[in-house]
Amino acid sequence: MSLPPVKTRERLSEVRYEIRGELARRARELEAQGRKQIKLNIGNPGAFGFRAPEHLQRAIAERIEQTDPYTHQQGLPAAREAIAAFHRQRGTPNASPERVFVGNGVSELIDLSLRALLNPGDEVLLPSPDYPLWSAATILNDGRPVYYQCKPENGFLPSAEEIESLVSPRTRAIVLINPNNPTGAAYPRELLEKIVAVAQRHKLLLMSDEIYDSILYDEATFTPVAPLAGDLPCLSFGGLSKVHRACGWRVGWAVLSGDPLASGDLHHAMDLLGALRLCANVPGQFAIEAALHGEDTIAPLCAPGGRLYEARRAVSESVAASQHLELVAPAGALYAFPAVTGDAAIGFDDHRFALELLETEDVLVVPGSSFNVPYRNHFRVTLLPQPDDLREVFRRIERVLDRYAVQ
Ligand code: PLP
Repeated sequence: MSLPPVKTRERLSEVRYEIRGELARRARELEAQGRKQIKLNIGNPGAFGFRAPEHLQRAIAERIEQTDPYTHQQGLPAAREAIAAFHRQRGTPNASPERVFVGNGVSELIDLSLRALLNPGDEVLLPSPDYPLWSAATILNDGRPVYYQCKPENGFLPSAEEIESLVSPRTRAIVLINPNNPTGAAYPRELLEKIVAVAQRHKLLLMSDEIYDSILYDEATFTPVAPLAGDLPCLSFGGLSKVHRACGWRVGWAVLSGDPLASGDLHHAMDLLGALRLCANVPGQFAIEAALHGEDTIAPLCAPGGRLYEARRAVSESVAASQHLELVAPAGALYAFPAVTGDAAIGFDDHRFALELLETEDVLVVPGSSFNVPYRNHFRVTLLPQPDDLREVFRRIERVLDRYAVQ
C-alpha cells in the first residue's frame, strides 16, 4: 500500500532562509569528500574561536545547581531587572522588569511577537535587505512583508518618506534592524526621529532589532530608537549571541516600552505565548546580569588591532584592490555586503556565483538576494574569520569574477 505523502504548511513555499539552505547543504557534502572550506555564511562567533567572556561563563557555572526548574515565562526576575535597568539607563520610557521578555535568542522573540501582533493579511514594513527571519516570521504568522529600500547609493540607509508612502490601512508595525544585518549600516538619530514621527502619525508599533548594538567601528555610534519614541509602543530586541559571543546559549530579550495603555493587549498576548512554551533556556539566563553589569568586552575587538576591526579592514582593503567589487563599509555588526560591478556584473547571478565559488574555490558566501533585495549583484560575508583568511577569500572571489569579466 502506498501512503500519500505528508502535506506541510503551504506558506512555507514562500519562506527562504538561505544562510543555512541549499548552498550550506552542498558545502557539507563537499566537506564530507575531504574538501577544506572557508565558510562565511553564518554569524556564529564561537565557530571562529571567539569565546563568551569568562565572567559570563562563571556566572552560569557557579549557579548550575539552580538551573533545573522552569523559570517564569518572561524570564528570571534578576535577569529582567538587569535588562530593564540597562534600558532605563539608555532613556527607554517605561522599561520595567514586567515588560521584559527573555527568550531562546532574539529569533524566538521575533516569531513570538509577530504571532502576538498579526492577523491574516496584516502588513509589516521591513527593510530590504533584511535579516530574512523577519520576512519568514511575518509570512508564517499570516502577515505580508512590505519592503522599504535601504539602497547602497544611500549608504544602505532607509528613507522615512518612502516608509511613510508604504503605510496602508493594514500596516501594523515598522521593523528596524540597527545596526543592520547584512549591510552594517547604523542609523543616525535624525533619521530615527523621522521614522518615529511616521510611526506616531500612523499609530504603528516600532520593532527594533538591536542585537548588534555595541558592535561598532571607527566613529560609528548606535542610537537606540525607544528613547526617541516617547509614548509610542516600541519593542527593542537584544541578546547575548553577538555582542557577548554566546549564540549557543540561546539568550535574547525584548523590551516593551512607551505608554502601557497604548500597547493594549500586546503584553498579555506575548506573556500568553511565552507561557505556552514554558520558559527560555535557564542556564543562559544566569549570564544576563553579568553581561549587562560587567566590563565591555566587545569594544577592544572593534578597535584598531582588534580582531573584528582588522577583519573589516582586510575586507575593505581587498575590495578597494578589486577590479570588480564595491563596498559601503559596514559601520557596525559582523558582516560586509559587497556589490559586483562593471563587466563582471553583466548577466551576473548571485546564486550561480555563490555556487561556483563554493565548487571551485571552497568559499561559502550568502547570495544577496537571500536578504530580500530586488537586485542580484551582491553577496554577504561575515567578518568572523582571521583577517588573513578574509584576504585569501577575496583573492579567490577575484579569480571567479575575473573569469566572469572576460566572458
Ligand atoms: N536578529 C538579527 C539581525 C540577526 O542577525 C540574528 C542572527 O544572526 C538574530 C536576530 C538572531 O539572533 P539570536 O541568536 O539571538 O536568535
